[in-house]
Amino acid sequence: MYQLGTNRSVIRDIFEYGNARRAQIGAENVFDFSLGNPNVPAPAKVNETIRELLNTKDDTFLHGYTSAQGAPATREAIAADLNARFGTGFQKDNFYITCGAAASLKIVITALFNEGDEFIAFTPFFPEYRVFVETAGAKLVSVPSRSDNFQIDFSALEQAVTPKTKAVIVNSPNNPSGVVYTEQTIQQLADLLAVKSSEYDHPIYLIADEPYRELVYDGIEVPYLTKYYLDTIVCYSYSKSLSLPGERIGYILIPDETTDAKELYAAVCGAGRALGYVCAPSMMQHVAAVCTGMVSDLSVYQENRDLIYNALTQYGFTCIHPDGAFYLFMKTPTPDAAEFCELAKEFELLLVPADSFGTPGFVRIAYCVSTDMIRRSLPAFQALAKSCGLC
Ligand code: PLP
Repeated sequence: MYQLGTNRSVIRDIFEYGNARRAQIGAENVFDFSLGNPNVPAPAKVNETIRELLNTKDDTFLHGYTSAQGAPATREAIAADLNARFGTGFQKDNFYITCGAAASLKIVITALFNEGDEFIAFTPFFPEYRVFVETAGAKLVSVPSRSDNFQIDFSALEQAVTPKTKAVIVNSPNNPSGVVYTEQTIQQLADLLAVKSSEYDHPIYLIADEPYRELVYDGIEVPYLTKYYLDTIVCYSYSKSLSLPGERIGYILIPDETTDAKELYAAVCGAGRALGYVCAPSMMQHVAAVCTGMVSDLSVYQENRDLIYNALTQYGFTCIHPDGAFYLFMKTPTPDAAEFCELAKEFELLLVPADSFGTPGFVRIAYCVSTDMIRRSLPAFQALAKSCGLC
């Protein structure tokens, strides 16, 4: 725990560097692409709902504990919204409300864990997966994605699955690649896990980490995983869809069809209790009951994505085309991404080396920033490309 507390994440370090630099040369001269903090405000309905709740509801209702699983009305509203959008048949008792995706993941991993278990994740992945899995006592097995399109490399996955595999974690749309898994990828994943589950005579669960589900562009569809694989557990968050990352609200979904669903749900309640969560923030639960299914203004992210992707590829950089989330994944012209990020700092560009996501030779550029900052940063990117001999 001391090590976790003292080894700060690379992203936080860059952010702190940015703060110091902003104080030195003025905020308008620093182009900070380090943090995945949504810059688009929450939908107006969120604040309207908060005001209405404050004006109409009793304080003890608003600020009091809810049941550990979450307020029944919130769970009912989420079930109704998903059923309307995806043709599913969920009910309130399939849901456990959490303090965001991080809590959802940590609770689910803790609930599933037995001695000796392994959890698989595909690189590049959110670095906290390693923290959540290893502090639960399990082993994280990382499997590289296909290098051409960052979809799943099935031969690599097949080699990595063993009788010890308890679950596979997927994150689509992906942080940091922006890639959305195709329906074919999902179907193939479901088929492989079904075969392996029956070969090893125990379920291999699929954990769908979905904070970016609604953040997709050009009408791309994100397949709803429970419809493809019965042993799917969804870890959802409103941090990105409603731009509420500081409010800490999300949920875990365990469909009835999941193996040992009732026991698993009870274990989730147990893990939430053991981890000291008590219940998710009460007022935000009431907001989620009204606003679930709504999305912040995606046109800003879409404009940002087009602007930065088109410019950077024109300058000669190689980038993965992001279909979702708000990150651009760029190959570094030289193999050492950390060195490249140091060079970028000379142009006041703050980028994140992807080594901590398990994919050396790439950087993550978070474009959830103002469109104006992206426009002003383009000459710096062009100068960076020139200094690398790209244009
Ligand atoms: N999973 C992924 C892939 C993320 O990118 C993030 C946050 O950036 C999380 C989980 C945690 O999200 P939350 O703020 O809901 O805990």
